[in-house]
Amino acid sequence: MEESNHENEILPALSFSQESTNSNLQSPEPAKIQCLQCERVYQFPADKDDYLAHLFLEHRLVIADVEDIPLLEEYLIYWLREFTGHELEQYCTTMLLDQLPDGTPAKNERYYLLSDILPKDYELRHNLQKNHLERALAQHQFELTDRNFTKECLYCRDIITGLRSEFLEHLFNKHFLQLGKPENLVYIDELLAKVQSNLENLVCLYCEKVFKDRSTLKEHMRKKAHKRINPNNREYDRFFLLNYRNKKPHNKPPVGKRKTERRRKTQEETVAEVRSPELATSPDFEHHFPVRSQSDASDSDWSDWDEDMGKMSPFNCLYCKHREEKFDILKKHMLATHNVDFESALLGLNFYEKIKVVNYVRRQVCLMRCVTCNLRCEDEEKLLLHMEAEKHFGFGTKKQWDKPEYFFPTYEDDSLLCVLDDSPNDDMDDGVVRIISEDTMAQINKDAERLSLENFPYA
Ligand SMILES: [Zn+2]
Ligand SMILES: [Zn+2]
Ligand SMILES: [Zn+2]
Ligand SMILES: [Zn+2]
Ligand SMILES: [Zn+2]
Repeated sequence: MEESNHENEILPALSFSQESTNSNLQSPEPAKIQCLQCERVYQFPADKDDYLAHLFLEHRLVIADVEDIPLLEEYLIYWLREFTGHELEQYCTTMLLDQLPDGTPAKNERYYLLSDILPKDYELRHNLQKNHLERALAQHQFELTDRNFTKECLYCRDIITGLRSEFLEHLFNKHFLQLGKPENLVYIDELLAKVQSNLENLVCLYCEKVFKDRSTLKEHMRKKAHKRINPNNREYDRFFLLNYRNKKPHNKPPVGKRKTERRRKTQEETVAEVRSPELATSPDFEHHFPVRSQSDASDSDWSDWDEDMGKMSPFNCLYCKHREEKFDILKKHMLATHNVDFESALLGLNFYEKIKVVNYVRRQVCLMRCVTCNLRCEDEEKLLLHMEAEKHFGFGTKKQWDKPEYFFPTYEDDSLLCVLDDSPNDDMDDGVVRIISEDTMAQINKDAERLSLENFPYA
C-alpha cells in the first residue's frame, strides 16, 4: 500500500487559512517552504525564484509550467510530503544532458522534470486551480460589499470611505485613471498598492518607463493616454477575475506523449539502457543526446540505434497537423504556410538552445497557447487562426524558451529534434553551453556564487 487517497485528504488541509474572517486578509502570510530535496528553507513568495533556481542548480529538478501553477506554495508542500521516502525517478521524467546545471560540459548528467503528465500532479494542479478560483470569488464577493474601506486618493488629497468601487470611480471620474470595472477586479487593495508604488517610484503604469519626477510622469501618462495598467504584465493577471475562470488546465494532459519515467528490466546491458533506462523507448531522442558528443562508446554499441534512425518517423509541423517524410519539404511547408524560416531563425543558437526552442514551441502549441503572445485558445483551430491573423508564428523570445524545462521533449518521437545539429552553424564547439539566460542569472546569483562563479562564462 503506497499512497492511499492522498489527494483527497491533503488538499483541503493545505489551504492557508485566509478564509472568511471579516478582516479579510488579501493574500496568504509569507510562508516558509522547505526545498523538495534538502533542508533549505525559503521565504515565499519573495524567494520563489531563488527556490526554483536552487532546485535546478542543486538537485537538477525542474517543475514544468511553473508560472501557471496557482498557489505554488501548496503545490510544493504537497510534493514535499510525497517525495519523502521516494526517489525522484518515481515521479519525474528523467533525461541525460552532457552538461552540469551551470553549463559546464560534463557527461550524462541526469535531470528531472516534474510535470502534469503524472496523473497525481495533474490532479493536484487542477485542484489548486479550483481552490484558487474559489478563494478569489469569495474575496471578490467581500470586496463588492465591504463598506469599511477607506483610503486616500492616489492623486489628490481626497479620502474615500465606503465601497472600493467608489474609490475606483473616483480615480476614473476625477483623474481618468482606468484600472478596470470593480465587478471584474479582485484583490483590489493589493492592486491599488501596486499602482501606488509604481506612481511613487515614478513608473508609468502602462509602458513602465521611469520618469525623473512626478510632474513629468503625470504629463507623460496624460499625453500618451497611459492612464491604465500594462495589459502585457502578467503580474496584473491575478487582479482580474477573468483570469481565474479561463485558466483551466488544458483538457487532457498529453499522456504518453511527453515521456514518463519507464524503467525497463535490464536484460542485457546495452549502452542505451545503462545510460538512460527510462528513455529506452524513445529511440530518436535517446539517440540524440548521449550520442551527440560521446566519445567513449564504441560505434557497434549504437548499431541498433542507427537502424532506428533509418526508419525515422515523419516530421510534424511545429504549428499545424501537417506532416512530411522529409525535413526539407517540411521546412518549405513552414515557410510557405506559416512564413517561418526554420533554419535562419535558429541560426546562431547552439545545439541545446535549438532543442529548447523546438520543445518550447511544441509545448505551447500542445497547450493551445500562442507561441508569441501566450494567449490561450480553446482549440487548435482557433490557435492557428490567431497566430495567422496576428502573424504570431515564430519561436517566441529567448526569455520565453530559455528555461530548463524545455530541455525535456514535449513529444517522445519528435523527429525535428534529431535533425537540429545537421544545420551548419552549430557552435557547440566553443566548449561551453549556455543554458541559463542572463535574466535568470540575476535571480540565481546567490546560488551561483556558491557554485563558483568561474563556471559562468558571462558572470
Ligand atoms: Zn535543496
Ligand atoms: Zn483624487
Ligand atoms: Zn507610459
Ligand atoms: Zn504547418
Ligand atoms: Zn499571439
